[in-house]
Amino acid sequence: MEQVINLGNSALKYASLGLAVFPCHFPVDGQCSCKNPQCGNIGKHPKTEHGMKDATLDQTQIKEWWLNDPLANIAIACGSISGIVVAEFDTLDAIQGKVIPATVTALSGRGLPHFYFRYHPKIINDSIKINGKETFSIRTDGRYVIAPPSLHYTGNIYQWSREPGSIEIAIPPDWLFELPTPEGAKPSTVPDIIPNGSRDNTLYTIACSLRAKGLSENEILVALLEMNRTRCKPPLAETQVREKTKQACKHPAGRFLTAYQNNGSAPNLELTPLGTLLAEPEPQYDWQLEHRLPVGGSSMVVAKPKVGKSTWGRCLAIRTARGQDFMGFKTRQGKVIYLALEEKREEVRRHFQRMDAKEDDPILLCFTPNPQNGIAKLREIVEQECPVLIIVDPLFKFIKIKDCNDYAEVSAALTPLLSLARDTGAHVMTMHHESKIEREGGDQILGSTALFAAVDTVFSLKRTDRYRTIKTIQRYGEDMREITLEIDDNQLVSAGVERHEADLSHMDDTIREFLGKQKAPVEEKTIHEAVEGRRELKIKSLRRLVEANKVVRTGSGKKGDPFLYSSIASTQ
Ligand SMILES: [Zn+2]
Repeated sequence: MEQVINLGNSALKYASLGLAVFPCHFPVDGQCSCKNPQCGNIGKHPKTEHGMKDATLDQTQIKEWWLNDPLANIAIACGSISGIVVAEFDTLDAIQGKVIPATVTALSGRGLPHFYFRYHPKIINDSIKINGKETFSIRTDGRYVIAPPSLHYTGNIYQWSREPGSIEIAIPPDWLFELPTPEGAKPSTVPDIIPNGSRDNTLYTIACSLRAKGLSENEILVALLEMNRTRCKPPLAETQVREKTKQACKHPAGRFLTAYQNNGSAPNLELTPLGTLLAEPEPQYDWQLEHRLPVGGSSMVVAKPKVGKSTWGRCLAIRTARGQDFMGFKTRQGKVIYLALEEKREEVRRHFQRMDAKEDDPILLCFTPNPQNGIAKLREIVEQECPVLIIVDPLFKFIKIKDCNDYAEVSAALTPLLSLARDTGAHVMTMHHESKIEREGGDQILGSTALFAAVDTVFSLKRTDRYRTIKTIQRYGEDMREITLEIDDNQLVSAGVERHEADLSHMDDTIREFLGKQKAPVEEKTIHEAVEGRRELKIKSLRRLVEANKVVRTGSGKKGDPFLYSSIASTQ
């Protein structure tokens, strides 16, 4: 009978679900296809030059590999690249007493289970031995598993008991975080309370561990400051936390983020003369939204409910679809995918109608909250549709996060979205409620600090009784100062004046109104007492009102003859 097993198609399917694959050798007549008769790892070692580092989601590359070698076994790279950790059992006894949530599960050549769980940076590679015998191992960053329908040297075929795509990959159970660590290794979990006496050492260890995973100094600092605030009893001074971070960052950044960029080789120590540095041109970035949103980057829009972030986002969507300027900044024209996961379908429709959207404006919408395998599906869609902008509104209706305050969990959940942006060149914008986090997570917001550290641009929208404002915090380019937002009758958004100017002109009105009600000219002191607002604003406003002849000032300002102010109207 024809061989019905098609390894290439399986590899393509896994990649389409976000699992990065690469080809491995396979057993032939009890030997390894590497043709080394002494091969000690039959059918389980990489066929490609860089092994694990060649793991990819790229369909063309995968096709090429399996066209060249249709019998190659399939390896799935574990860790952040695929968003998974795998617990591989060597004996059924070792499973006893462990809670194992329903999740993607493969059966090895010997019929033993491989459980796939969602990636979590706190879980580390480990082999658990009982009585000197390996009983199970945890595979994450830097390691891989052989996947069905690969061939085992026993002649058995790896099989799925629960196939990827048919069931969601479960959140890792607690026991994966609480494993006995091998001798010499440091524990990987962070204690809830870090008492006086161990604060320095614990924070330093955590910083080193984050560094080893490839986080930047700034990202580590953000995490450490938060841990210091919430877990250290009492917290260390901020300067000490900065010191710990600095020390840890003397170590080179680890593989977690960089391994796939530099082929794992450490960079050479190089000296740059200051003159050379000064002569370097400003880096040019490709912008999706000029000066604000980098191509292939990510952003987050943060606001309390009802401030208008969805309105703002849809307006950006339609401007982008048409290549029109938005808030005075150029857009790169292209298709937009807008995930409206919270609002009612008809509300979204009405808004687009009011903005005079046309049926051929290239915008695709999705209204399914908490989609199954959302990231993998989105990647598939993005690879087909090639959008320039993807808006996820809001983020937590797309990615499930158990604990928004868990820095590591949040950044791990975001990683696949960030790599989607990087891999496809689309800009990924996520919307995020400020207050939701506060409600769920106590006073403040480790979650959002993780979010802030992960994205390239943060837009912060605010609303007062007088205006809405927006400002940015950016990794690239300069931050945008806080400006007001205008929303017209058709709910089209545009940039207003700077917030400071808005405050000042409001103060102008307030002072003029106050002076208009006075029967006689008043001293500046009286204005400060009677008019609410910041003193500095009142001084500035009064000065410019006088200069513009909108307020009359009499008196010399000397002792016994103070300045007196009155409105133009009341002096006439
Ligand atoms: Zn071999």
